[in-house]
Amino acid sequence: MSNPLLNSSDKDQVFEQTVRPLQLGDFVGQRKLVENLQVFIKAASMREEALDHVLLSGPPGLGKTTLAAIIANEMGVSFKATTGPVLEKPGDLAGLLTSLDQGDVLFIDEIHRLNPVVEEYLYSAMEDFKLDIIIDSGPNARSVQIDLRKFTLVGATTRKGLLTAPLRARFGIDLRLDYYETETLQQIAERTSGILGYNITQKGSFEIARRSRGTPRIVNRLLRRTRDFAEVEGLPSIDDRIADKALNALDVDQHGLDDMDQRILNALVNTFAGKPTGLGTLAVAVGEDKGTIEEVYEPYLIQEGFLQRTPKGRTPTPKAYRYLGVKMPGVAQSLFDNSGE
Ligand code: ADP
Repeated sequence: MSNPLLNSSDKDQVFEQTVRPLQLGDFVGQRKLVENLQVFIKAASMREEALDHVLLSGPPGLGKTTLAAIIANEMGVSFKATTGPVLEKPGDLAGLLTSLDQGDVLFIDEIHRLNPVVEEYLYSAMEDFKLDIIIDSGPNARSVQIDLRKFTLVGATTRKGLLTAPLRARFGIDLRLDYYETETLQQIAERTSGILGYNITQKGSFEIARRSRGTPRIVNRLLRRTRDFAEVEGLPSIDDRIADKALNALDVDQHGLDDMDQRILNALVNTFAGKPTGLGTLAVAVGEDKGTIEEVYEPYLIQEGFLQRTPKGRTPTPKAYRYLGVKMPGVAQSLFDNSGE
């Protein structure tokens, strides 16, 4: 992923660890999801059973990894984490699964990128807590069945649509995370400031929150960078003026759109003159990977009403024209005449 605000350097990862909520009570926002999860965790604990397998889906940086770790914490079990592409062969999966104790949480991030062969093995592990492993090869090849302890698989994906039906069907709990409201992000900014030991004014947290693409990870990153600016100027707290200065320096505009968002809108409006444009064509025009556009940029631009995905391709909305200060041609306008804009 090339979005610098979502990419993680080692230092960023250490920082993320220190500000990561450890309990459901500290997890801000996503109220309905949290309430449901609370019930499922309580019920499983009362029955002294492992929690059902959980699928978490939604754009990057919204808290999927955080929730997976919280689930383990709340259930009082160990947490093991891996990612889909790392599990190259069935043996990698077998090694992990056999190391789990009763009730433990195995977190697989980017589960849509699992090797199909590994995925096949996961089916019986999830359903019957058994693994059929073939040992030896040629005429000596034989299948050995290994019994596993009842574990909880927490899978996370930014692309739920790419999950195969049999895998999806094996998750008893299916939760979707949505972009956060500004007020919720403000609470996250204030919480993180507290952990960093730096004061933040209400206007300061609002400025950062409203320009963070609905994403807690971006709030935390922008907050950290803003603190650098505040420290250099010797300010006792982060206020809206320093936040605005830092965000402008980081090329985050007044709408919270970054350089790639702007390039996408510019290509749709100017290069392709508002005509429905295919994802591949758009990707080439802006110099970004198709998957990243689809997973990272588009969902937010669609949610904020800057672009629409139609069967014929991506189309900029009247809001995108207003944003770029370009007059919308009649032909493009006619696509929206019935949409109430
Ligand atoms: P994902 O796995 O969805 O990409 P993460 O769980 O890694 O996202 O979250 C990214 C960062 O945002 C973490 O450092 C975490 O501290 C913070 N974060 C995410 N969701 C919340 C939340 N609801 N409340 C507080 N902080 C959050």
